[in-house]
Amino acid sequence: MAMIIDGRAVAREIQKQIKEEIDGLKRRWGMAPGLGVVLVGDDPASHLYVRNKEKMCKDVGIRSEEHLLPASVSERELLALIHNLNRNKEIHGILVQLPLPAHIRSNKVLDAVLPQKDVDGFHPYNQGLLLQGAEGGLRPCTPLGIMKLLDSIGCDPKGKNAVVVGRSNIVGKPVAVMLLERHATVTVCHSRTAQLKDEVGRGDILVVAIGKAGLVRGDWIKPGAVVIDVGSNRLPSGKFVGDVEFESAKDKASWISPVPGGVGPMTICMLLFNTLRAAKESLQRES
Ligand code: NDP
Repeated sequence: MAMIIDGRAVAREIQKQIKEEIDGLKRRWGMAPGLGVVLVGDDPASHLYVRNKEKMCKDVGIRSEEHLLPASVSERELLALIHNLNRNKEIHGILVQLPLPAHIRSNKVLDAVLPQKDVDGFHPYNQGLLLQGAEGGLRPCTPLGIMKLLDSIGCDPKGKNAVVVGRSNIVGKPVAVMLLERHATVTVCHSRTAQLKDEVGRGDILVVAIGKAGLVRGDWIKPGAVVIDVGSNRLPSGKFVGDVEFESAKDKASWISPVPGGVGPMTICMLLFNTLRAAKESLQRES
């Protein structure tokens, strides 16, 4: 029977360290990290995510500044706001809540965020640094959180077969690169993978980020594998479930992250981590 990877507990511990560091920054430099949050339109789920993020910022001492724009805002107006936030010395991180309305090119907006303030780690410059394995750069929150979860259970990817299902720019691809950087042998699967079940069955570490409830069956999993389920799917009943069939996977895996309570809390925690990092680096540049 697998042990549960408690993302909430790991996130709490990291948040405690973040808060201590921020208290130190305030004492020593009289400054608090600042996060500019940009939210366009009135999608209730996006508003809820933003409220949660802002609450967590407040808990650790990050100043968050909310910019609510109507769904009718033009791309030019939105870009003007981003440029203002880029110039604002009290803002160290910028978060643009996705999705944006269809008439706005998301890439154009995300690319306009200064890489040093790109706390989501989506900017091509930061993605390039990640691919090069270069020092510095801000890394995307969910993959960063996944690596912290592996560290929290003492799982060293070195020499292991890591299978990543999903190849999005925000989860699958960057987590595959991070696992490769930590010396795993990485296989990346996607919707055109011929024998998904066989590929999954080779994973000592299995990371699943698809967005389809229970698509990966428990009996596909290699006995003793460490399973990280990124999926977040709302069932008609309102319940949230992952992409992995949790009950049967528990019988095969050695460790498994639950949904909810696994990767989700880590994603927000890594946003706080990146904002603190961006603030510290801005202090270094100025001193
Ligand atoms: P995307 O939709 O961008 O990517 C999904 C990936 O899954 C694609 O690469 C797609 O392949 C692949 N895929 C789809 N169907 C299959 C299939 N039948 N077999 C194999 N691969 C398949 O999703 P995201 O990466 O943004 O998110 C994935 C999931 O993770 C979602 O449920 C999302 O809500 C959740 N998520 C959770 C987060 C958290 O903090 N908990 C954060 C981010 C995401 P192809 O490329 O070929 O289309």
